[in-house]
Amino acid sequence: MQLHLNTPLLNSRALSQLSGSNIWLKMEALQPSGSFKIRGVGLACQTSFEQGARRFISSSGGNAGLAVAYAGRLLGVPVTVVVPETTSARARELLHLEQAEVIVHGASWQEANQFALSLRGESDAFIHPFDDPLLWRGHATMIDEVVASGVRPDAVVLSVGGGGLLSGVIEGLQRNGLNDVPVIAVETEGAASFRAATKAGRAVELERISTVSTSLGAKKVCEQAIRLAGRHPVISEVVSDEQAVRACLQFIDDHRVVTEPACGASLACVYQQRAVLAPFRHPLVIVCGGATLSAQQLHDLTVGE
Ligand SMILES: *Cc1c(COP(=O)(O)O)cnc(C)c1O
Repeated sequence: MQLHLNTPLLNSRALSQLSGSNIWLKMEALQPSGSFKIRGVGLACQTSFEQGARRFISSSGGNAGLAVAYAGRLLGVPVTVVVPETTSARARELLHLEQAEVIVHGASWQEANQFALSLRGESDAFIHPFDDPLLWRGHATMIDEVVASGVRPDAVVLSVGGGGLLSGVIEGLQRNGLNDVPVIAVETEGAASFRAATKAGRAVELERISTVSTSLGAKKVCEQAIRLAGRHPVISEVVSDEQAVRACLQFIDDHRVVTEPACGASLACVYQQRAVLAPFRHPLVIVCGGATLSAQQLHDLTVGE
């Protein structure tokens, strides 16, 4: 059983006209859990279920937790998600909708995560949000689909949080013989852990995260992302929160789909006509999605500026 959907690949008239190049959109926002995460999380959940896991545990109040909850519901496996007190009411509600048990513990994600890890019993599987080879292998299927549809992008634009999406997309490019296709790795200013790592030449931990793009808020990217960036062309790009939010709002008008600012960061690269994109004729943008913000909340973020 495949838990994710094969998503549409759109040729964006609005973005192509704006940028003067042929912009392809991989519509991961249309996955049933609201983001690409179900690809890797689905594979990880299914594999651990086959290996005997009878409960899935997650510490993500975001799209990773939602994907685990969705996978658990489809596989008939109970899911426990431990989230910190800061997790929004909407995120908790979405988890409940997927029939997950939600435990609120601690003031920060670190505390919730520690508690989640302490709950692990023998037949439980802890599902990591970005650092697991099964996740990367699952995420890579989005590139398989693009190639199977006959499209050969000359660059891929994607957002980076912990680097799981980046690792999966590079795996997908390499297993389809697209080793020379560069990845443009986009972050917001307050969550630029990949930028910091490329500068330092190793994964470094940011002192703090300060962004509305909460799904990009990993203080440190996974080692795999650094390793792959050493043997695949990757260009780091940084946008502001404001640009990310405005891109989300513009994208609602252009394509009638709501995304989170984490996804808006990638879209902002195109809307801002960033120089980094200028050399490419057929860029593919991963519209990674995001389910925890409503259109109204996006509007409110601009009013608050
Ligand atoms: C998880 C997520 C990201 C970042 O993915 P990583 O694998 O952590 O780099 C970006 N956008 C959305 C919508 C996400 O859910």
